[in-house]
Amino acid sequence: MATDDFYHEVHLNLNVRGLKHSATLRINEYSNQLISEGKKVYKLGLGQSPFPVPDIVVQGLINNAREKDYLPVKGLPALREAISSFYYRHWGKKYLVENIVIGPGSKELLFLLQLCYYGELIIPTPSWVSYAPQAKIIGRNIHWIATKKENFWRLTPAELDKICRHDPKKPRLLILNYPSNPTGYTYKNEELIELAAVARKYKVVLVSDEIYGMLDHKGDHHSICTHYPEGTIISGGLSKWCGAGGWRLGALAFPKSLSWLADALSVAASETFTSTSAPIQYAAVTAFEPHPEMDFYLERARKILLHLGQYCNRILNEAGINNAAPHGGFYLFPDFSNFRNKFLQHDIFDSETMCDKLLESAGVATLPGSEFGCPPSVYTLRISYVNFDGRKAIDAAVTETVDDLFIEKYCPDTLVAMKEIVKWVSAL
Ligand code: PMP
Ligand code: GLU
Repeated sequence: MATDDFYHEVHLNLNVRGLKHSATLRINEYSNQLISEGKKVYKLGLGQSPFPVPDIVVQGLINNAREKDYLPVKGLPALREAISSFYYRHWGKKYLVENIVIGPGSKELLFLLQLCYYGELIIPTPSWVSYAPQAKIIGRNIHWIATKKENFWRLTPAELDKICRHDPKKPRLLILNYPSNPTGYTYKNEELIELAAVARKYKVVLVSDEIYGMLDHKGDHHSICTHYPEGTIISGGLSKWCGAGGWRLGALAFPKSLSWLADALSVAASETFTSTSAPIQYAAVTAFEPHPEMDFYLERARKILLHLGQYCNRILNEAGINNAAPHGGFYLFPDFSNFRNKFLQHDIFDSETMCDKLLESAGVATLPGSEFGCPPSVYTLRISYVNFDGRKAIDAAVTETVDDLFIEKYCPDTLVAMKEIVKWVSAL
């Protein structure tokens, strides 16, 4: 065998063959490249909080910059206590400190969770871009459940039951994310009660990805853990509601019945990332503690996202683009099926081509529904409506009323981007 053969990519593990960088990160880097080449790009691709990390949390980081030791694998005890109290305050459920695991982002923890749990993975679609590639890297099969637009792309109890009843005893792990990335929709408490009943019937391990929970626009987030405490793992972190995606801090909270899974996951963590950055963990304690500053920050962030989400939705609706106002987070997931005939005339046969053309012609960067598990032929895309100066907006919201005028003043680029989408699709 020639030496070169040893360096050939046939030796690439099958599980990672053909995978690209995650779509969210790819669109961000591509948008930045276009901007550096002098092009105007409306960056609605990456889902990143526009708001600054609250000052009180930043101060926590400054105060702890000298913390340099490796911390316990599961995380700083004070932080795990703060998270346990946080969930108790919000949901009245006691997640034991020893069953909380901190990691460098919930993404890494979700990956290790999939690695450690041996069972069928159920993912409703559309859903976040990384769940499925993580399963592929590990070599797991996924059972997709396609949700319906008329149900706001949310899983129904009947759909879940249908999957489980074929083989009622099979171990299963379901990832439920609400408010949802990519749709912005969430579940009402009554709907969570019904889903919890099905999950309990089949003893499904339920990963409740509530990373956008504190960004429910009306501050009315409910957790399924209140209805199915024995089977719910809560996934969360600082990235979204605390504006700290780049800090990389996530947490999983396991119920007592799954403490063996928390322990197994921490073994995997000890052999991979060791422990999460010490200064970040110390600073994060403040974020999970009750502080009026945090409440006021969240109140303003939610108001801005609510009004902006509704405004953007209106612009799209008025042009015949199908969508409903989001409930939380900072995403919209419009459906352009009304324009199908026009698209076909322009050789736009799938959502990926639709997004490519939108970027090329109108300079608006978004992600196609196909990246979220929707059939490519369905003309959906994800808009991350965060291309505004979040610091300016959240500071202004201290004294100014958040209404349409406020949105026009502080989020003009986002509104222009919506109008550019409308202009593009109307002119086809
Ligand atoms: N879940 C969802 C639904 C997300 O959108 C993201 C993206 N940030 C994550 C999990 C992972 O977040 P992080 O790793 O920053 O905690
Ligand atoms: N979750 C964000 C998104 O969906 C970006 C970060 C990531 O994917 O890791 O755009």
